Amino acid sequence: MAKQAQTPMMVQYQKIKDQYPDAFLFYRLGDFYEMFNDDAIKGSQLLELTLTNRSRNAEHPIPMCGVPHKAVQNYIDILVDQGYKVAICEQMQDPRLTKGMVKREVIQLVTPGTQVDVGSENAKTNNYLTAVVANKTGEQFAFAYVDLSTGELKVAKLATKAELVNELVSLATKETVIESDLPASIQETIKKLGILRSTQSQLPVNSSVSYLSQGVNDPLMKRVLKMLLDYIQTTQKRSLSHLKRAVVYEPSDFLEMDHNSQYNLELIKNIRTGKKAGTLLWLLDQTKTAMGGRKLKQWIERPLVNANRINERHDAVAVLLDHYYERNQLQDELIKVYDLERLAGRIAFGSVNGRDLIQLKTSLKQVPKIKYILEQVADKSFQEMLTKLVPLDDIVNEIEAAIVEEPPISVTDGGVIKDGYNEQLDKYRDATNNGQKWLAELEAKERKITGINNLKVGFNHVFGYYIEVTKVNLNKIPENRYQRKQTLANAERFSTPELKEKEALILEAQEQSKTLEYKLFVTIRDRIKQSIKRIQDLADAIASVDVLQSFAAVSEEYRFVRPTLTAKHEVAIKDGRHPVVEKVLGHQQYVPNDVDMGSNTNVLLITGPNMSGKSTYMRQLALSVIMNQIGCFVPAKKAEMPVFDKIFTRIGAADDLISGQSTFMVEMKEANDAIENATPNSLILFDEIGRGTATYDGMALAEAIIEYVHNHIGAKTLFSTHYHELTALDESLKQLQNVHVGATESNGELVFLHKIQPGPADKSYGIHVAKLAGLPNNLLKRANDILTRLEKQADEKQAEPKAPRVSQSQPSHQTEATQEEQISLFPLETVNDNQVEVVSEIKKLDL
Ligand code: ADP
Repeated sequence: MAKQAQTPMMVQYQKIKDQYPDAFLFYRLGDFYEMFNDDAIKGSQLLELTLTNRSRNAEHPIPMCGVPHKAVQNYIDILVDQGYKVAICEQMQDPRLTKGMVKREVIQLVTPGTQVDVGSENAKTNNYLTAVVANKTGEQFAFAYVDLSTGELKVAKLATKAELVNELVSLATKETVIESDLPASIQETIKKLGILRSTQSQLPVNSSVSYLSQGVNDPLMKRVLKMLLDYIQTTQKRSLSHLKRAVVYEPSDFLEMDHNSQYNLELIKNIRTGKKAGTLLWLLDQTKTAMGGRKLKQWIERPLVNANRINERHDAVAVLLDHYYERNQLQDELIKVYDLERLAGRIAFGSVNGRDLIQLKTSLKQVPKIKYILEQVADKSFQEMLTKLVPLDDIVNEIEAAIVEEPPISVTDGGVIKDGYNEQLDKYRDATNNGQKWLAELEAKERKITGINNLKVGFNHVFGYYIEVTKVNLNKIPENRYQRKQTLANAERFSTPELKEKEALILEAQEQSKTLEYKLFVTIRDRIKQSIKRIQDLADAIASVDVLQSFAAVSEEYRFVRPTLTAKHEVAIKDGRHPVVEKVLGHQQYVPNDVDMGSNTNVLLITGPNMSGKSTYMRQLALSVIMNQIGCFVPAKKAEMPVFDKIFTRIGAADDLISGQSTFMVEMKEANDAIENATPNSLILFDEIGRGTATYDGMALAEAIIEYVHNHIGAKTLFSTHYHELTALDESLKQLQNVHVGATESNGELVFLHKIQPGPADKSYGIHVAKLAGLPNNLLKRANDILTRLEKQADEKQAEPKAPRVSQSQPSHQTEATQEEQISLFPLETVNDNQVEVVSEIKKLDL
């Protein structure tokens, strides 16, 4: 925008705007917040506002648009939800009392990560602001996150970029604070994730919240915390006393699961809709409080790996499951608890009103009841929660004594504090009341004197108190009795010296009463602020209780059982189910399946027609593992499993949303991720690996991957494939077992049994599936003929002497040899004599 001879106001505006170049500056002008120049042009589009011009007649008019101050929150939310920042610039002086320019200051910078007044639809999700720093070599990271509304503050050291991406994605962070010299590749990734990158460019602040990082000694973690806290301080400019001390966490304290697995298994978000419905979270969520809802989500995102802690949660669920009556009582009491975590945040910010305090009181009053119920049933698994469930009677009593039951929204207009709480306030109120009485008496007296029966004493904000006489009665007023104040269409309004004097007294009493009420309110609020830590502990305990009762409730409703944790390398699930598919299909329709992987079975190779349920079977195991490790019961008749350390999945054909890579590339990357990082205690799910490329290519890779996992990792692995050739691997790979999903034909139609059975599938049902899909009959007939011919040829081959199989210790070259021109994965020089024979045999086959 062209600079021109500017008005003092625009000079002030520009000076402030220069400090916030990357934010929309909402500049307070009377009852509006105005935007100018580029902010106005862009803002008017995003917010659908009318764009006007300031100083229209000037050579370079200034584009301008504005929003009414009363509705500003809506507009801020719209911008911030779209990833923008808004700097709120207020008038710091009363314009009526100020000569010249009113002083203005930015009182808060609202950013996607620091937004706290989120709508109720977001009550069950956290809003995290994160921060990243890298060490000198750019190979190690410190990572911190905070939820400004709940005060949660965590920090970790991350060893790889992949870990970093996982944290960023699983926390669904919308904004991250970085140093400007963070390696470019990391910055690029963050950008691709759609996360706003903010730098802490302002001068380092003299942080009043540095105590929050006490106990964190690692220099890199200290640095990231300081950066994060500095950023919050400079943007928020308000009390942060509700922030909790930083807690150091280790990603390895939790089941490791990359964001693709989280996404593919639909733990939190439905792949198709992006919503909660149809996810594990949706299924398990019978929490009654917003805090419980958020905690459940956190638990699902971070399943445990410590068997004792898992068992403790199972114990608690078992107790609640056994006590149906108490559980119902508990639910009834929990429903009445408001969002204590966010209330604590608002108390710290100083933005609570009377209604919030009533919510706080109502919630705190539930604590003794919740505690009592738990004490009736609890075993030691509730100990930690019970110690945190301390009823805060002092706060309850204070609010009870001071705040009226139904306070107004505003805290400055009076009507918040109870009668009898403060002597001075009662006096002001008496004065006001007496004043009202006096006015009533005045009306009666004046009516009598003048004989005007409809004479009224009234009040308005501009003229104060007045005596009103209708036009027809004006002649009845004795001379000089009243002084004229205001003329209306059919009445006159008057005053008297006596009334004026009384008016001053009444208005003053009212004013002072409001001021005093506000002062009292702030005092109470500040006193409660001292207890924020206690309120947060309570909130945490209530959230845990809520999640555990939710686990008990769903375990009962959906017939989940308590799994047994085993130290052995064995999975034994009887009649396992996919809980979400089961819920959608109905319990009767769902065919349960066993998973039987003893210590000698590490790889299950699953074959079967498309749509038979291979992928569902694999997912159901993964979900049971996750449910187990978050402390919930699992969908089965009986289940025994070890604690897994990591889950790797390659499921579904979803392209990588983040890097926009092709399906096949993603497939290979995910396979590689598993191969590099899996341990014997991990779970690997590979669904149709290799299908993204040419047949032989894919088959060769699939076989090589299975061999590798089998020989070098030993993780429990489910591998589904439509390459029937792979089923022969069970001869060479001792810990591999074939299973297949059964299907039968009935009158030439394919019937899916959805039942896992031992051994390989004997037939590809592709043509039947094609029929189900409605392909033309003569085409299907033609395909059938071709199939018959191919099968016949294959049978003739089989009749010939069998080629010796390649031993397990040597790499197998059957598949790639058939396609030697295409595949250069394993150089042909390594083929030995024996294998050459095999190769020539295979070449003869008509594949
Ligand atoms: P595949 O991976 O073999 O192509 P899916 O696992 O995607 O097959 O399953 C296809 C459909 O079959 C699912 O959407 C579900 O409706 C149904 N299905 C799968 N497993 C079962 C089961 N155990 N019981 C009932 N229906 C099932």
